[in-house]
Amino acid sequence: MSNDTESSTTVDPARDPAQDATRIVIVGGVAGGMSAAARARRLDEHAEIVVLEQGDYVSFANCGLPYHLSGEIAARDDLLLHTPESLAASLNLDVRTGHRVTGIDKHSRKVTIMAGDHTYALPYDALLLSPGAVGVRPPITGLDHPAVHTLRTVPDVDGLRERVEELLAARTPGDPAPSAVVIGAGFIGLEAVEALTARGLQVHLVELADHVLPPLDAELAPLLARELADHGVDLRLGVSAQAVTEAGTPVTLTTGPGAVTVTLSDGATLAADLVIVNVGVRPASALAAEAGLDLGPTGAITVDGDQHTSDPHIWAVGDAVEVTQAITGARMPVPLAGPANRQGRRAADSICGRRTTPQAAVLGTAIVRVFGLTAATTGANQATLRRAGIEHEVVHIHPGDHAGYFPGSEQVHLVASFSPDGALLGAQGVGRAGVDKRIDILATAIRAGMTADDLAELELAYSPPYGSAKDPVNMLGFVAQNVLDNTMPQWQAQDLDEAMATTLVLDVRSREEFAQGHLSGALNIPHLELRARLHEVSALAGRRAISVHCASGVRSYLATRVLLSEGYDARNLSGGWLTLQAVHPNL
Ligand SMILES: Cc1cc2nc3c(=O)[nH]c(=O)nc-3n(C[C@H](O)[C@H](O)[C@H](O)COP(=O)(O)OP(=O)(O)OC[C@H]3O[C@@H](n4cnc5c(N)ncnc54)[C@H](O)[C@@H]3O)c2cc1C
Repeated sequence: MSNDTESSTTVDPARDPAQDATRIVIVGGVAGGMSAAARARRLDEHAEIVVLEQGDYVSFANCGLPYHLSGEIAARDDLLLHTPESLAASLNLDVRTGHRVTGIDKHSRKVTIMAGDHTYALPYDALLLSPGAVGVRPPITGLDHPAVHTLRTVPDVDGLRERVEELLAARTPGDPAPSAVVIGAGFIGLEAVEALTARGLQVHLVELADHVLPPLDAELAPLLARELADHGVDLRLGVSAQAVTEAGTPVTLTTGPGAVTVTLSDGATLAADLVIVNVGVRPASALAAEAGLDLGPTGAITVDGDQHTSDPHIWAVGDAVEVTQAITGARMPVPLAGPANRQGRRAADSICGRRTTPQAAVLGTAIVRVFGLTAATTGANQATLRRAGIEHEVVHIHPGDHAGYFPGSEQVHLVASFSPDGALLGAQGVGRAGVDKRIDILATAIRAGMTADDLAELELAYSPPYGSAKDPVNMLGFVAQNVLDNTMPQWQAQDLDEAMATTLVLDVRSREEFAQGHLSGALNIPHLELRARLHEVSALAGRRAISVHCASGVRSYLATRVLLSEGYDARNLSGGWLTLQAVHPNL
């Protein structure tokens, strides 16, 4: 163990380490940091493990914060998984809350710590950084107004709950609902919207991108937009918030900080009793940068496969570090709890001299509940694949989450991308049931390097209440096989203009479905009548190709096969009218 040669020191003698024990110092006492501390203790009973956390809480459930705001997690204490006392008792950890690390001297292996007005230095043998991320502060004037909140910490949720209670208490019968503006429709923004709506607030959601949950492919996002609208959320897409100003007249009669007006880039103004800003995070890497550790171009800390930074005595994990994106190979931070926890465990293994499992590239598998819908994603989305110049085929399916003949079957909307050689590159899903299971299977499949053929052959648990003999995951494999070997050439909703201008559009839905809305100039032949009416197709198509569609892509697949077998140049619309309408909402 290093000697305690404190420089600016006022070290508490009680905290002097045993001379022969290794001292592991951990900066950040939540996901990655606490995971590392617990694993290090399990591996080394004699190490001195000091966890330094600038906040008042360690090991709290940050992912649970939105559900405490909504009231679903009723007891605040349920968010606090451990205290310094419980960690001392169970793991013999020296956890110091309210202790902020302000500097690292990597040459003399010491950190400088501020605890209140007291500053001291602490030598380390191994230093692990898990400082997390900091919320991006967008260029909006007035963000310092007390009505403006973020949702990242326990004090944040305390403040929000207090404000919501205050607003609800001040409301008298007949008053309009208190109003909230949520800026940013990412994962946490959507969870905040759901929570505030559950508490009875009228919520406006402002998002700069042209669809909610920007990591989701554009053709799935409208399903979430509709769900938000159905729950009374006022969605403003493609605009930014520009200013928050004190409102002359409160929206509801409140005590405490008054209501504000949020001005949007399109000139609209929204009156709000509270505002939540959640427009993403950036790695908290300032401490590492000041210490001279290497950072990547994204500003995140560079680490190797066992979480070593550029200094041999310093490891780093979590939202602050760069990982390799599994599909594109890009180095970037991926701020998710799963990777942070696994990295913490790996770093502890490395610090304790154990064999480490080499860090796997990160898929960015993520999931969110939006009222009755679940949206989830894994691997690379289409925009990422396009940006990275990775050739891919996209398939869309809308099967039931379980056998259609068993009550309660719900559609699962799945989109998946495959490389020309069949490798699964990414998948996304939205639906009321069964999305989590499919995305987890598909995440596992990507990790295992599976192809369309492998998905087609996956043997998954089946009984009518749970799935189908051909599970949606198998169906993705079947469809991708058909596309990749040209059994079923397809066209995409994004090709609509070209399809209408240069091909015959053949709509094989029923007459009733056709009557409810169709593409102009489309020929309607219900798929069961196609074989008998092929002459009509010939007469209208002439030398043109035929772009077939139905509602979801199944009947049009059958029709496309009939046409191809009869020598026509036919292709099927991936995802059918459902996907077409999502991409072209004005149809
Ligand atoms: C509201 C919310 C909901 C989320 N929901 C999900 C979810 O559903 N699924 C998911 O995968 N991820 C979710 N996340 C993200 C997930 O929580 C993070 O990816 C994860 O916590 C990162 O772990 P970390 O150890 O890197 O950072 P954190 O867990 O944030 O811990 C970092 C800690 O370091 C402390 N610290 C920073 N600098 C210093 C310093 N200089 N000295 C001392 N202490 C310092 C900070 O105070 C902080 O407590 C959510 C995050 C939030 C905020």
